[in-house]
Amino acid sequence: MKPARFDYARPATLAEALALLAQPDAAVLAGGQSLMPMMNLRVARPALLVDINRLPLGEITLAGGTLRIGALARHAEVLASPLVALAAPLLPQALAQVAHAAIRNRGTLGGSLSLADPAAELPACMLALDATLVVASAARGERRIPAGAFFLGLYSTALASDELLLAAELPAAAPGWRFAFLEVARRHGDFAMAGVALALGPNAARLALCGVEAGQRRQPAAEAALAAGDPAAAIAALASTDAMDSPELSAAHRRHLAQVLLRRALAHLEAADAAA
Ligand SMILES: Cc1cc2nc3c(=O)[nH]c(=O)nc-3n(C[C@H](O)[C@H](O)[C@H](O)COP(=O)(O)OP(=O)(O)OC[C@H]3O[C@@H](n4cnc5c(N)ncnc54)[C@H](O)[C@@H]3O)c2cc1C
Repeated sequence: MKPARFDYARPATLAEALALLAQPDAAVLAGGQSLMPMMNLRVARPALLVDINRLPLGEITLAGGTLRIGALARHAEVLASPLVALAAPLLPQALAQVAHAAIRNRGTLGGSLSLADPAAELPACMLALDATLVVASAARGERRIPAGAFFLGLYSTALASDELLLAAELPAAAPGWRFAFLEVARRHGDFAMAGVALALGPNAARLALCGVEAGQRRQPAAEAALAAGDPAAAIAALASTDAMDSPELSAAHRRHLAQVLLRRALAHLEAADAAA
């Protein structure tokens, strides 16, 4: 199928892009890996496509203990970045499992976070890494949204229709923190049936799932158990996740996978500690 009729603009400046996004039924085009199929299926019918690929939003920087990844950074660039490997080692673990090389070459951090697909790896990573999302609009200027307040549920975020996601800011990994991302997919590169993004620190933990619940959120009961040094209780806590139920994968199966993955993630971190 072909998309419904739309207008197209390719602004050269952020101000121009934000002015265009203030128009009714405007949509951002980043890597197009999700938006174009959605338009072809006519699930999305924007009146105006605002192509942001000319904007300088792809930079990855590390300064003052903060890693900043621009919204237009491609998955492949984030995966290969030495700064990301140093300051947010969870991200390369997760990105190696996102789709295939061709899609990673086009798909962007901003596109994945704005779409908020429940099976996507990056929203879970942003939660586990305590990220802040920087967004901007022509009317209200820039604002910063903690990841926990950015993701609102199934394909839903705190982004207003006239807002552009500019970047994600992440505190650089502190000493003593360890990170594990594990998932199960039917084939390598498929969206996850279930995944866990785990950041484990001294007496603290941040845990988020993908592919399990409809929305993206942290798992406070499991985190509290991990912080208290009780991994069995943390695994048990995932039995009460509000898992999605579908004909191809039941809620019980998703919960089971999440529990198995958390057990493996903890074993993986323990083995890495032993080898160090
Ligand atoms: C075959 C296939 C397999 C895939 N497998 C996976 C997978 O395993 N895991 C995974 O996580 N992803 C997967 N993806 C998705 C892919 O990784 C991209 O991350 C995703 O398509 C969105 O990024 P994009 O840059 O292409 O965004 P686009 O398709 O351009 O946009 C997606 C949505 O976000 C909005 N948007 C984009 N950028 C911004 C911004 N800066 N500010 C505000 N709104 C914005 C758009 O308007 C649109 O609504 C897969 C895609 C395909 C086609």
